[in-house]
Amino acid sequence: EVRVRFAPSPTGNLHVGGARTALFNYLFARSKGGKFVLRIEDTDLERSTRKSEEAMLNDLSWLGLDWDEGPGVGGDYGPYRQSERNSLYKQYAEKLLNSGAVYRCFCSNEELEQMKETAKQMQLPPVYMGKWATASDEEIQEELAKGTPYTYRFHVPKKGTLKINDLIRGEVGWSLDTLGDFVIMRSNGQPVYNFCVTVDDATMRISHVIRAEEHLPNTLRQALIYKALGFPMPSFAHVSLILAPDRSKLSKRHGATSVGQFREMGYLPQAMVNYLALLGWGDGTENEFFTIDQLVEKFSINRVNKSGAIFDSTKLRWMNGQHLRALPSEKLIEIFGDRWKSTGILLESKGKFVEDAAELLKDGIDLVTDVDTALLNLLSYPLDSTLASAECKPVVQDKLSEVAASLISAYDSGELREALEEGHAGWQKWVKSFGKILKRKGRSLFMPIRLLLTGKLHGPDMGASIVLIYEAGTCGAVSPQTG
Ligand code: GLU
Repeated sequence: EVRVRFAPSPTGNLHVGGARTALFNYLFARSKGGKFVLRIEDTDLERSTRKSEEAMLNDLSWLGLDWDEGPGVGGDYGPYRQSERNSLYKQYAEKLLNSGAVYRCFCSNEELEQMKETAKQMQLPPVYMGKWATASDEEIQEELAKGTPYTYRFHVPKKGTLKINDLIRGEVGWSLDTLGDFVIMRSNGQPVYNFCVTVDDATMRISHVIRAEEHLPNTLRQALIYKALGFPMPSFAHVSLILAPDRSKLSKRHGATSVGQFREMGYLPQAMVNYLALLGWGDGTENEFFTIDQLVEKFSINRVNKSGAIFDSTKLRWMNGQHLRALPSEKLIEIFGDRWKSTGILLESKGKFVEDAAELLKDGIDLVTDVDTALLNLLSYPLDSTLASAECKPVVQDKLSEVAASLISAYDSGELREALEEGHAGWQKWVKSFGKILKRKGRSLFMPIRLLLTGKLHGPDMGASIVLIYEAGTCGAVSPQTG
């Protein structure tokens, strides 16, 4: 049975890197009909908080990455927080002690420091050189009787190599001679990170460990512990780092990096999921637009790239626009309407005006938050900044006033209003005859009208814009502050 896990440490926010790891695990589980387990790695009690855990769970749910086992849903292999699994770690540490895979090390910190120093001077690798790996029973009993504190230290084979077959990176090997016997449990009884992860993955019956590349050095220790515990080894897949456009490690200085930040900026979960999937994966075609169901259908871990993926926020933004426009129009209208009402631009979140405005403006929008500016731009007539520039020379103004005068008289006579009452078709008919009178057509007709009525040189479809502006003035949905 395929069982994978996402194992965040609740010490901050869920970042795009973590979200992508979670997504790959989720897609792998769903595509194989397996289970997606969520485990909270809160052994670092100083830095872990419940608040961070809750925020991470909330972000995962928002992305739609629902887990089959873990906090909030339970499961047969709980508890799913490391801080609640201490007795299990103790039990397995004892097991390893009894089998001889680990030994009690009574070295004091000073002794260990001394050894490190000596190794350095002799230009030897900093491996454990103490006597406790081979101490006699009497020596051990003596220290126990004295009550000397001790750690549990793992017997690492002194030579040879360890190899794994990583599903993304192929064969990865380490030589064992420089590793040295490592501690799995501290003298205060606190189990060490790599030991916890191994016990958890083994006892939770995890079949595939899909995680970030930076954990690769841990895999060596974990694989040794696996063998010692006699558990079957899972398959490993180490996913490459997410890089900034300058190929450095993506960090705060490159802008938003946490899922929560993107949510607040108006990104849709569907777009986030789609974009994150493309960071290191593709279906082998040109296609880049995928719903989560399509991703489940197409995802394959063998197609995940082993080189670092570049996080391109411009592309994410574009992709958000694609997903926004792919929503059913009722949904889009609801999102836009709620937004316009809540920001006070409109008095109502529903109705014909909202529907017409959403239809007109959706093409120029990538983020939900852009809809405010888009509507305000259309309705509130701030003059386009380019008009203040050389483009707007007195000559242009002369020509404009000719068109303006004719427009005003058409409006005053009621003829233009009548046409606008009939909506877009009415407008089209009217503007054609208006052009004939002025002996203008195409750009030379439409540019001045657009400029006079909207204050802008560019914008969404002009006829629809003008009909909407007229509607705004007559339908009563627009807040008086907006105009
Ligand atoms: N807790 C680790 C992290 O947040 C993940 C460990 C793992 O996946 O093995 O980076």
